[in-house]
Amino acid sequence: MTVKTAVSEITIERFREEFGDALQTNVPLARYTSARVGGPADMVLVVHNAGDLLTAVQLAYTKRIPYFIIGGGSNILISDSGIRGLVIVNRARQVSFRHTGLGVVCTAESGMNLSSLTRQCIGKGLGGLEWAVGIPGTVGGAVVGNAGAHGGDIQAILQAATVWEPGRGVTVYSNEKMAYAYRTSELKRDQEKIRTRRVVLAAEFKLKPAPVEILTARADGFNAKRKQSQPGGASMGSMFKNPENYYAGYLIETAGLKGFQIGNARISEKHANFFVSDGDAKAEDIRDLIAEAWNSVREQFGVEMDLEVELIGNWEFDERS
Ligand SMILES: Cc1cc2nc3c(=O)[nH]c(=O)nc-3n(C[C@H](O)[C@H](O)[C@H](O)COP(=O)(O)OP(=O)(O)OC[C@H]3O[C@@H](n4cnc5c(N)ncnc54)[C@H](O)[C@@H]3O)c2cc1C
Repeated sequence: MTVKTAVSEITIERFREEFGDALQTNVPLARYTSARVGGPADMVLVVHNAGDLLTAVQLAYTKRIPYFIIGGGSNILISDSGIRGLVIVNRARQVSFRHTGLGVVCTAESGMNLSSLTRQCIGKGLGGLEWAVGIPGTVGGAVVGNAGAHGGDIQAILQAATVWEPGRGVTVYSNEKMAYAYRTSELKRDQEKIRTRRVVLAAEFKLKPAPVEILTARADGFNAKRKQSQPGGASMGSMFKNPENYYAGYLIETAGLKGFQIGNARISEKHANFFVSDGDAKAEDIRDLIAEAWNSVREQFGVEMDLEVELIGNWEFDERS
């Protein structure tokens, strides 16, 4: 498949001046996603601190080229034709702790892996994040999508997030300003509307001291439950949000679609809301599975499910090769 780039040589040179060889061009994105699916980006930059993340988005914004942040790539499906403009892979992972009168505030850069952060907090005897153990992806992705599991979520523990707003600069968002709801936030809703996305640089979490053994046992219990109910391998986690009064997985399973396969993509036999790649799946195959599940559930139950996974890239002009 041939794809037209959206970036001029002059712009690439400008990024090279700033970031040297860390700036790569025409890079397949599959390696940066948990589904191992997705075509190339014109430019990819892996950043290792929040300062470089900020510099990169500001430069993209002033150069008027589209930009997109990938954290763990565990909640996105990138089209086979990839992403035009700049993709920033966020590995900014600095973490610090501050004692307050009531507990401890943990500040994490947005590229920190959420599950590793959880284990770090547990090791320090700090409770509040145990539900997040085993959730792939970064703090940034979790803050934007209000990640949650086992009755806990980001909304319950976020004190504030440091956010870069295009054209405005860096500002602090309180928990209220994030306007959280089930697997969404002000930032996620905004992404559906505009091209120039806001970027989470860091987040602060309110944690409470607790015995390490109790926190460890809780996290291990959650992890065991996850392993028992969810398939391993390449996936994006839950494909659809649970509709009110239903579980998406139950609806898809009852529609008879467990194990249904298109190309190398399959609806998991273990959990029907997980769509797994058996190796060389195409994004297009997964999108066709999404359409099949959505249509079958609507026909059989009259329920229109909303995607939890975000479709990124150009879908209209993808062609099967
Ligand atoms: C096996 C498996 C199990 C899962 N289980 C759960 C679960 O139990 N609960 C749950 O909630 N989710 C679950 N997920 C989904 C996913 O792990 C979470 O949604 C996770 O929080 C996504 O983080 P990420 O860094 O991978 O985001 P990405 O997929 O990289 O990005 C998601 C969106 O957030 C944006 N984004 C990422 N970082 C930033 C940033 N710094 N600033 C602004 N925007 C940003 C991206 O641009 C994109 O729009 C699961 C996924 C898998 C594969």
